[in-house]
Amino acid sequence: MMQQQTQWDEKQLQFVAAMQRYEGGWAYLFFNKVVAWLNISLQIFLVILAVRLDVGFGWHIFAVVVAFVLADLVSGLVHLYMDHNDHYASVVGPFIAAFHLHHDTPRYTDRSIIHVYVDESGSKQWLVVFLIVFSFLFLFTATPPLLLCIGAYFAVFSSLSELSHYLCHNSQATTVRLLQRLWILLPKKHHMQHHRIDNVNYAFLNGMSDPLINWIARNYYSGYRSGTELHTALYQHNRQAHNIPLNR
Ligand SMILES: [Zn+2]
Ligand SMILES: [Zn+2]
Repeated sequence: MMQQQTQWDEKQLQFVAAMQRYEGGWAYLFFNKVVAWLNISLQIFLVILAVRLDVGFGWHIFAVVVAFVLADLVSGLVHLYMDHNDHYASVVGPFIAAFHLHHDTPRYTDRSIIHVYVDESGSKQWLVVFLIVFSFLFLFTATPPLLLCIGAYFAVFSSLSELSHYLCHNSQATTVRLLQRLWILLPKKHHMQHHRIDNVNYAFLNGMSDPLINWIARNYYSGYRSGTELHTALYQHNRQAHNIPLNR
């Protein structure tokens, strides 16, 4: 027993402790719910304000397209950063550890798409900050209306990127497959490269930003196979020993 314990390194032990904090109490899961509802209520608030702005229909379409492109890019950059983050012992360590489990998840728990939208919005803490700043701009400054529209739609697409990723893993529906073939949703074959090959295809909404993100990853990041992916080993070992399924 002692011999086996000494083979686990510091990061693997920190990872297990972080997951115990995440799964063992109510605080982190409750925080996810607060984040989810803040994200969704602020998105509804901003979209209602955006569609009431004095902006022509054509400019709204333009804002949707720009927001779509930006949301894909940002989803990939945040994912790239998070996949290389190993601060498990920090106060946000449990969120980081829980995030790393996505590489070992071939299929998620089946839920309705609204349920997925709400649940997955709960892991987007950065989006709450963005939405609060944008609400402030909407209410108290003379920010150009087009920019406000782009911001509101960007926030919605950011949550939709998580749904797109979920559908990529879980859905065989004809409409979903068609939207994936049109690169409106994240195509399965393209995204599965992220699970099979190190340090590629991080974008979650439709993958159009991946050529740029892959270039950034190649030049500035080491990849997760030799880093954070090794840190889950002790947690997975314990989980398998106790026959506990991955439940997300
Ligand atoms: Zn990843
Ligand atoms: Zn995936």
